[in-house]
Amino acid sequence: MFKAIRNWHVRRVVARHPIAEPLWQAALRRCAPARRLGASDQASLRVLATLFLERKSLEPVQGLELDEADRVLLATHACIPILKLGLDWYDGWHSVIVYPDAFIPRRTQVDAAGVVHQTHTVLAGEAWGRGPVILSWADVLEAGKKPGHNVVIHEMAHKLDMLNGDANGFPPLHRRMDRRVWSKTLSAAWDHLREERRHGLPLPIDPYALENPAEFFAVVSEQFFETPAALQQHLPQVYRQLEQFYRQHPY
Ligand SMILES: [Zn+2]
Repeated sequence: MFKAIRNWHVRRVVARHPIAEPLWQAALRRCAPARRLGASDQASLRVLATLFLERKSLEPVQGLELDEADRVLLATHACIPILKLGLDWYDGWHSVIVYPDAFIPRRTQVDAAGVVHQTHTVLAGEAWGRGPVILSWADVLEAGKKPGHNVVIHEMAHKLDMLNGDANGFPPLHRRMDRRVWSKTLSAAWDHLREERRHGLPLPIDPYALENPAEFFAVVSEQFFETPAALQQHLPQVYRQLEQFYRQHPY
């Protein structure tokens, strides 16, 4: 019954606010992971992107303006990770705040000794537990230009990670997945890459992945969708875990 209502709602939204064909084609041209999908997956992605635009509020700030094509592009990137999971995986938050360029969030942090610090880190994106996703539009447009990079997918991976608490590289796994295998695989890859870095070897992924387990998950997720063949080649076991989690086989 609920499913029937939901399907009816989906059909209504898609019928009322369809993504126009030229905008959809433009989004496909600029989003490699979407371009690589088969026709029926592309059709599902288009429906998800339509619903994403209906449910989430895209909020450009600091004079940035996003036209319809920009919004469709952003939604297309955002829905890649949940293509086989469903939009429910993005429940619990509403806003996507978009800065024109990299931004410096004003934030105070209290360290272990109780000292308050103002942080001044320049960010391309940020995701809060129950709050908004924050993106730099300049970085959104960079997706795929540096191989394996996609800031939207990165922040959405953090959102999925935080569905079961803090961002720690451990999103809610599906019933048939083995939690121990997930942890063992990701930490073995992490240790291996740290070892390589210690020896000054070039890393097959963005070294930012080694900041912490949450960043590791977000960075390998970007690569899983943007440059799946490279991830499969360099970290095949991580690739396999991500295949199971995202229920997709991009390579
Ligand atoms: Zn991150």
